[in-house]
Amino acid sequence: MHSNEDYNAAVKVDNLHKSFGNLKVLQGISTEIGHGEVVAVIGPSGSGKSTFLRCMNLLEVPTSGKIYIQGADITSQKTDIMKVRQNVGMVFQHFHLFPHKTVLSNVTYAPKKVKNVSAEEARREGMELLSKVGLAEKADVYPSKLSGGQKQRVAIARSLAMKPDIMLFDEPTSALDPEMVKEVLEVMKDLTKTGITMAIVTHEMGFAREVANRILFLDKGMLAEDSPPSKFFTNPECDRAKQFLEKML
Ligand code: ADP
Ligand code: MG
Repeated sequence: MHSNEDYNAAVKVDNLHKSFGNLKVLQGISTEIGHGEVVAVIGPSGSGKSTFLRCMNLLEVPTSGKIYIQGADITSQKTDIMKVRQNVGMVFQHFHLFPHKTVLSNVTYAPKKVKNVSAEEARREGMELLSKVGLAEKADVYPSKLSGGQKQRVAIARSLAMKPDIMLFDEPTSALDPEMVKEVLEVMKDLTKTGITMAIVTHEMGFAREVANRILFLDKGMLAEDSPPSKFFTNPECDRAKQFLEKML
């Protein structure tokens, strides 16, 4: 795909293995995610999707194999993990907002603390991000006053405040009431248009089909299929994907 030897993918995963004790959760995953690409990670429960994502920002340390973020080997001892995490934002199923901070303070906290951004600039950028996720008017309230969908949008804004090049989403809508799923997916859809690289674990098949450039189908810790959505959702190659889709659709 890229003949230029100097090209660095946003993410390159090379023969990634991860075990917890005797449990082999990831068993040799290799793939690349290009800059600005949006990949949806799909697969049965327990297939290793969360572990795969968590390895990309070293929330889990790979048992073996390599992960390169923009060419830098994050499994190397020399790598500054905090630097990697600044550049690779993550949004989880549960929001983990700071309950004792206002919405705006949740968003401005890390840039001020970690990046030494001035209070004024953090506030300006924070308000901009809150506008983008449709929550500018909630800047001064506390998370407990927000709906689940609103909390998740704040979590996305908070993650974006660090200006990551890569965003990882682990089932960001799975814990939400159905009527709130759409507003979060809309925010994520907007984000796909900004050129940021995204890896999204999701069970929202319609969304994956609409926004993803590629579908990575995990089965038993292996990358069983890597296809564009047009192919994956109409004519998947692997039988496990077929069975999975029959259940989901
Ligand atoms: P998925 O997100 O696809 O549902 P996970 O990556 O969460 O799958 O989990 C894959 C397997 O690894 C499961 O069997 C799970 O119980 C196990 N697992 C995940 N995290 C840990 C951990 N920290 N310690 C032990 N086992 C774990
Ligand atoms: Mg999971």
